[in-house]
Amino acid sequence: MTAGTFTSASLREAQRIADEVLFPAALAVDADGAVPASHLNLLAEKGFYSLAAPPPLGTLDLGDFSDARTVVELIAGGCLTTAFVWVQHHSAVMATANTGNDHLRENYLAALAAGKRRAGLAIGAAVRPGPPVLRAKAVDGGYVFSGEAPWVTGWGSVDTLYTAARDDEDMLVFALIDAVEGATLSVEPLQMVAVQSSRTVTVRFDNHFVPAERVSGLVPHAAWLEREPEMLRFNGSLALGVAGRAISMLSDGAMVSELDSVRRQLGNAAPQDVAAARAACSELAMRAATALAVHDGSRAVLMDGHAQRLVREATFLLVFGSRPSIRAALLQELAKPRH
Ligand SMILES: Cc1cc2nc3c(=O)[nH]c(=O)nc-3n(C[C@H](O)[C@H](O)[C@H](O)COP(=O)(O)OP(=O)(O)OC[C@H]3O[C@@H](n4cnc5c(N)ncnc54)[C@H](O)[C@@H]3O)c2cc1C
Repeated sequence: MTAGTFTSASLREAQRIADEVLFPAALAVDADGAVPASHLNLLAEKGFYSLAAPPPLGTLDLGDFSDARTVVELIAGGCLTTAFVWVQHHSAVMATANTGNDHLRENYLAALAAGKRRAGLAIGAAVRPGPPVLRAKAVDGGYVFSGEAPWVTGWGSVDTLYTAARDDEDMLVFALIDAVEGATLSVEPLQMVAVQSSRTVTVRFDNHFVPAERVSGLVPHAAWLEREPEMLRFNGSLALGVAGRAISMLSDGAMVSELDSVRRQLGNAAPQDVAAARAACSELAMRAATALAVHDGSRAVLMDGHAQRLVREATFLLVFGSRPSIRAALLQELAKPRH
């Protein structure tokens, strides 16, 4: 992808924001401990919080899923931390668009699509295989959630948490919860080597009451796991964004065609091949960021250079949103004999 190649006005706008606003500030955001509200406000103002919203609430000029992935890639190529906070939002939009709960649809959907409400995501704890670390129990008027969501990104930048907890019948209970600390909900900040300013925390629920009017739906755990490949595909675009930024900073055009090829692999992968495509995206991001460090020489170790930031971010993208199949594919690729 190069500047000015898009026919879609929204893709051109995403690229403009990435290149003119996000990238120039990316080192400062990385160091500052928080994503500036102005970044997220700009994304909201330009319609990017409606990425997953149905028309007429979805205001972007995009064709298909491939365009939506390109938006994620562009924003990630500008500032991965900003993209990482923003990208958590869209599951809540889809949930409120598709819910049978009229209260949620009427009170949340438009505000979420406009970015007036901003959502984080806390689903990994309940959806991962094995016993859930976040449990739901039906009570009068709703549910209580107990346990923890180990990784929740965007604390302080979101007002709503799209959360899943699992009940004793292996049903996932999805709900929109206020992202507010209190007697039954507490958070612990995590210290990370990259995207620290995403304010990723562990959220602990101690018999936290969730009224029925906040429940967007119940899904059998097994059915959810079957739908996973499509959701996993989107995370690959974060790695493509980091790879693309590093590649654009190499002076010789190296890896440009490889980036195109891996992007095609991600877009075209059949469900059973998404893991291999995700691994290819992560491996390319790591290699491209490493090449940029070598290209930049000694100054690559200085904290005011992008190479070290991109290497740290690529490291994070080796493990974020992983699954056993992605990990196996990555380990196989990394262990390939080259000599
Ligand atoms: C910095 C950072 C921020 C994150 N932010 C969020 C966030 O905001 N919201 C959020 O929900 N998650 C978040 N995650 C978690 C992420 O989505 C994955 O769950 C996690 O990266 C998987 O880590 P793991 O491979 O070490 O598996 P573990 O966490 O050790 O999980 C154990 C097993 O469960 C599987 N598993 C884990 N998560 C899922 C899942 N979601 N669906 C199906 N299987 C799963 C793993 O593949 C593994 O086999 C974040 C992770 C990181 C590193």
